[in-house]
Amino acid sequence: MRIRFLGAARQVTGSCYLLDAGGVKILVDCGMFQEREYSYRNWEPFPVSPEQIDYVLLTHVHLDHSGLLPKLVREGFAGKILLTSASREMLPIVIMDSARVQEEDTAFKKKRHLKEGRKGPHADVPLYTVHDVDRCLPLLEAVPYEKYVSLNDGVKICFYDAGHILGSATLEIVVQNEGGTQNIIFSGDIGQYDRPLLNDPTAIKRADYVVMESTYGNRNHEDAQHVDEKLCDIISNTVKIGGNVLIPTFAIERAQELLYHFGRLRREHCMPLVRIFLDSPMAVEITKVFEHYRKYLDEETRALFENGGSPFKFPELRLVESAEESKAIDRFKGPVVLMSGSGMITGGRIKHHLARNITDPKSVLLFVGYQAVGTLGRLILDGVSPVRIHGQSYPVRIRIEKIEGFSAHAGMDDLKRWLGGFAAPPRRVFLTHGEQDSISSLADYISSKDGWQVTAPQYMEEFEI
Ligand code: ZN
Repeated sequence: MRIRFLGAARQVTGSCYLLDAGGVKILVDCGMFQEREYSYRNWEPFPVSPEQIDYVLLTHVHLDHSGLLPKLVREGFAGKILLTSASREMLPIVIMDSARVQEEDTAFKKKRHLKEGRKGPHADVPLYTVHDVDRCLPLLEAVPYEKYVSLNDGVKICFYDAGHILGSATLEIVVQNEGGTQNIIFSGDIGQYDRPLLNDPTAIKRADYVVMESTYGNRNHEDAQHVDEKLCDIISNTVKIGGNVLIPTFAIERAQELLYHFGRLRREHCMPLVRIFLDSPMAVEITKVFEHYRKYLDEETRALFENGGSPFKFPELRLVESAEESKAIDRFKGPVVLMSGSGMITGGRIKHHLARNITDPKSVLLFVGYQAVGTLGRLILDGVSPVRIHGQSYPVRIRIEKIEGFSAHAGMDDLKRWLGGFAAPPRRVFLTHGEQDSISSLADYISSKDGWQVTAPQYMEEFEI
């Protein structure tokens, strides 16, 4: 077997690994590079010719794992893209949205470059288009969890629930040849244990090799109890003084998780009766997929469905899809809780709502997710004022709050618990999908375990295993 690390090597995004084994070339994930300093890689030709790849196995639909699939197909990939059935339903929504963003960004850049009489580093064309996404969709093929699927006589694969987002998977690839049988595990992104909605990550007992994420290799999250308490306090206090609560939210997982928490707080009468809006067409669509795939959710959530209800519905909730309805929210009298995309305020409807509320000291801007350097969310979180929204300058008078407990990612102790599932040390663990400090900390822990070997591969590095 040969493995080559084509992304997420000593960085968090761009997950993409090429495994050449048993006569097949398998790409595990085909993610977009999202850090600004590495985004140029999205424009470079694939390091291996896409037509030579036989299969893509997708761990989950986040763009840093799936975002370059349309480009791969446009450049010649014609094999199958295997993924779980929930991912099969969500991927078209996610990559179609990404294509529209690419097209809109390009149109905007073109205009700006024309006005400023200069050229950008790349041609003013989208990375891929809606048409490229259409060509990608016929290649998708859903596979069930925990069932081996043969790719040829010597290679079989299996998907296990990774507990990270709906449909997420840890992959096992088993290769049989004259030398015997070997297996390699790709962790995908590992979820947190004991959190609402999703199952715990599946414990994997045996592996010859492991490719493991290390996003939170050096830190833990706040626990879920504090999330409910904080959410309740912030909303009660804000509603009391007549302010609004604005929550920038990601469409997948975070939005549904918030709905779940709000629903629970409502059932337990812990929250004031306030109108709650989910103003994001993509989040509304993804919430419907959650309802279809309730069998993948944890026991507690399934029980809520069985009692005739839905953990994502309650009387005060309004799901908003059209732009007209979205504008109407700002005319609503009285305090509201408003969840809207994008999660880091880089675009989308949240920007419009923020512009209307940013100078109101009674209202709150509540962050529930990571804010990357360089985003409007991060600037505001870091205390920058005034800020520019849609070309206008606004002083930041809205109160800023943050809840850390939300994360689809395993914290440090969760990663250690996941490693504890192995009955014997694998021959080698390759750490990926983490920043330098996280990788070093987790690598130190792994190498301190008896008989364990660990490597943090470099971008494009290849290993014979
Ligand atoms: Zn992810």
